[in-house]
Amino acid sequence: MPTASVFLDRDDTLIANASLPAAAFAAGTHGDLADPAFVQLLPGVHEACCDLHRAGYVLVVMTNQGVVARGGASITQVEATNARVCETLSNPDQPGISLIERVYYCPYHPAGSVEPFCIEHPWRKPQPGMILAAAEELNLDLAASWLVGDAERDIEAGRRAGIDPARLLLLDTNSDIPDLAAAASHILSHR
Ligand SMILES: [Mg+2]
Repeated sequence: MPTASVFLDRDDTLIANASLPAAAFAAGTHGDLADPAFVQLLPGVHEACCDLHRAGYVLVVMTNQGVVARGGASITQVEATNARVCETLSNPDQPGISLIERVYYCPYHPAGSVEPFCIEHPWRKPQPGMILAAAEELNLDLAASWLVGDAERDIEAGRRAGIDPARLLLLDTNSDIPDLAAAASHILSHR
């Protein structure tokens, strides 16, 4: 039976990005974090993920990492950073297991310079490729799923994947849903 998911953006949804020092980023990489040492969960994120996981949602991360196409980081660095995010979001009920089911990332960017990543790709948000791949591979019920992100391209990817617009939550400090904790409360009260 398909399961409902909460699709989560990574940077500035789960972990700090905009507030990190310049030293966290390779020069000219437009703020994609690819150094595990700088992985830092935003306030309330661990508890929010615990609550959603306990409610039965499969947590899937989907993140654009055009830093690879731009030559600022290797696939290995991006995967190490993603692994650190998963490790940090440990499941208190199952030691050693992450609350995150899987991380999808898109290393492609048409303005990049590194072969073979300097192309447009259906996985790059706002395109819905990562969501559609996850739905297929993890047998997810998109009609019952939610998405949380801090950028319009996150929301647009969910829209193009066919997720109900009412289930696409844009984090905005000037709204009722400023952060993931508020998004989780909203999701859990609208089941
Ligand atoms: Mg983001």
